[in-house]
Amino acid sequence: MIKVGIPRALLYYQYYPLWRTFFEELGVEVVVSPPTTQAMLSSGSSRVVADTCLPVKIFLGHVLALVDKCDCIFIPAIRSVKRKVYNCSKFLGLPDMTRAVIPESPPILDIDIDVNRGKRVLYQAIYRLGRHFSWNPFRVKQASIAAWQTHLNYQQLMSSHRLTPPQAIARISAPSKAESEVCPDPPDSTQATVAVIGHPYLLYDEYINHRLIHRLEQARNQVLTPEMLTIEELESATVRLAGKARWTYDAEVVGAGGHYLDKEVDGVIGVMTFGCGPDSLMMDMVRRYAGRLGAASFTSLTLEEHTAEGGMLTRLEAFLDMIYRRRRRQATVCV
Ligand code: SF4
Repeated sequence: MIKVGIPRALLYYQYYPLWRTFFEELGVEVVVSPPTTQAMLSSGSSRVVADTCLPVKIFLGHVLALVDKCDCIFIPAIRSVKRKVYNCSKFLGLPDMTRAVIPESPPILDIDIDVNRGKRVLYQAIYRLGRHFSWNPFRVKQASIAAWQTHLNYQQLMSSHRLTPPQAIARISAPSKAESEVCPDPPDSTQATVAVIGHPYLLYDEYINHRLIHRLEQARNQVLTPEMLTIEELESATVRLAGKARWTYDAEVVGAGGHYLDKEVDGVIGVMTFGCGPDSLMMDMVRRYAGRLGAASFTSLTLEEHTAEGGMLTRLEAFLDMIYRRRRRQATVCV
């Protein structure tokens, strides 16, 4: 059976169930790279110039980890998944960049996704990808319909059950496992409700973020993330703050930040990476909005290759102390 490798980085957290269903429906075995390690980061970094953003360096480390484990590696070039809303330029050139800097890579399977070019071009691109495994266009069509349905179920699972992508992927991959094994019960009493916003490849890669979500939960906080909101909630908050979405990632940064600042949370933590142009603009928009509202506290954490765990924890503890004090003050006033 042909083995297709999927790097556990960048768009993996958004599209893995869709990609896996598509390939498996076509009789292909999917191999995923292991969770990020220092060795993967170092190997990815060694292939590119220093000012490349951290998530791309990590992505390349994941590709290197797959080199001798599969027959080909799937790396899509996703330009746009919504009309006139575009992805960061790093995603557009990802297959070409990988070919250039990792010449020992097995063949790279790419697909150009740009909904602005119309449905016909999109379907042709999907068929070209599927043709590597089946010449039967009907089979490729069936695989893409099943994949899209899996994607919709995945999004619905995250928003309706308030799951993170890794929890939802675990639930889909092992539906027979007890629910408490996949996503532990929330603590009986929570200290505070904290929203963590940012790109999924920063929020859910525990190596990059030093287990941020796990640490917040261990401190008995309820943690909310962008994927726990519906597309409608994200879009309406994006329109409120930014007028109109222009970046694909407006929803998970501006939309999620705006929504959570408006309701239900004590604090919002924006996670971004050093050297990311889109993040610096979007996070600033959320920061200003938080300042105008004054309802919930906001802080941002900037991650980079040399971010020390101790420094990040000190900032996190200071932020949590601030929101706990604020909660206590508000409780006293109400009494
Ligand atoms: S959005 Fe920022 S972090 Fe993500 S790939 Fe682009 S430059 Fe890198």
